[in-house]
Amino acid sequence: MQFYNLRHPEERVSYKKATLLGQGKDNGLFFPKSIPKFSVKFLSQLSHLPNVEIGFECMKDFIGEEIPEEILRNICEETLCFPFPLVEISPEISALEMFHGPSLAFKDVGARFMSRCLSYFLKEEDKKIWVLVATSGDTGGAVASGFYGISDIEVIILYPKNRVSPVQEKQLTGLRGNVKALEVKGSFDDCQRLVKEAFSDTELNEKMSLTSANSINISRWLPQQVYYLIAQKEWQKKHKAKPVISVPSGNFGNLCAGMLAYRRGMPVDHFIAACNKNDVVPKYLKTEKYSTIKALPTLSNAMDVGNPSNFVRVMELFGYSFKDLSAILSGESITDAETLAVIEKIKTASGYTLDPHGAVAYLALENYLSLHLGKKGFFLETAHPVKFPDAVERATNKKIPLPETLKPLMKKEKITVEISSNYSDFRAFLSQLF
Ligand SMILES: *Cc1c(COP(=O)(O)O)cnc(C)c1O
Repeated sequence: MQFYNLRHPEERVSYKKATLLGQGKDNGLFFPKSIPKFSVKFLSQLSHLPNVEIGFECMKDFIGEEIPEEILRNICEETLCFPFPLVEISPEISALEMFHGPSLAFKDVGARFMSRCLSYFLKEEDKKIWVLVATSGDTGGAVASGFYGISDIEVIILYPKNRVSPVQEKQLTGLRGNVKALEVKGSFDDCQRLVKEAFSDTELNEKMSLTSANSINISRWLPQQVYYLIAQKEWQKKHKAKPVISVPSGNFGNLCAGMLAYRRGMPVDHFIAACNKNDVVPKYLKTEKYSTIKALPTLSNAMDVGNPSNFVRVMELFGYSFKDLSAILSGESITDAETLAVIEKIKTASGYTLDPHGAVAYLALENYLSLHLGKKGFFLETAHPVKFPDAVERATNKKIPLPETLKPLMKKEKITVEISSNYSDFRAFLSQLF
């Protein structure tokens, strides 16, 4: 399928080109030329299909012949190698647990899928590529693990010193091989600035092919539809009515993928854009006025985004019709105090431990359902609580036990290079690599 640039619709590229480029002219995002509908047969057979088959069916319409079927199936197998349980918390509300992957966060799906597509396309080109990632904690772990050991790709992760949790830091720094971690004496914004400067450094780009691995890349964005379909498969086994789906949102890649699946025919009653204090989209959905902000720090820090990149894709999906969009999507902004309170409340009431991102989505859903009696739904629990121990332990007054699977990771030696937040330092590090 072809993809067009949302800023310059005349720029049209293949799936491969869109994956290799990341974004189009003037940083425009790529968008599929048409929205392929799911067949009635596919939707009615969902509850009998293995997850890998669901992934394959979902993705093949976009990829066509650009990746042979056999290889695409392998990519789906390696991507969907962990479960996505739908856990009932109350009769009305379930959690779609997305933290059973290698880095304990939902971004594992997109990162694994993208790394393998990229690697396949690079082999055809006989090329090597450098992936630069700035992370506040969560993205970096998924990218490190998803790209680890993938040929022709080198990964450089920049994270703010002393500002990521212990589990996150080990995930960034415990690997070797093609993944290098840089500990930046500064903030997440400094890390992002360094990466941006590298992308616009013409001399550097002549020596190294650089790319990013964030959700603007279609190979990271599109596979996120798959777990909505997997959730649907479980939902249909227990419920007749369509679900209300609450998505903890920052850059809106995740929610936008769910809404794409809905436009393709997946049954959904309503979506909720669950945000923390960074409430650009909830405000827009209430007032029809869209104004970006400078990101505010919160406990659910993977959602601290003041100018969500993917929201333009949501608008495109609904033809920029506020009426159509607001009929299916509501927004809700949750404060840190409410986040802590709901983590505590649910722990006491049902023994379930929410992470701060899942907590935002849970509460937004609970609020919506209290105004729409009789409806039911699920929220996306996007990370394991152990990745955000400060907030969770503050709320519950209990230590979160380390999952068995993490114990080997925590014993790994931390290997990093420390740099200042000056571009010259980062540049010097990069230039000794080529
Ligand atoms: C990245 C992230 C989000 C936000 O996802 P977007 O696709 O950027 O909206 C939510 N929760 C967690 C734990 C994350 O890591």
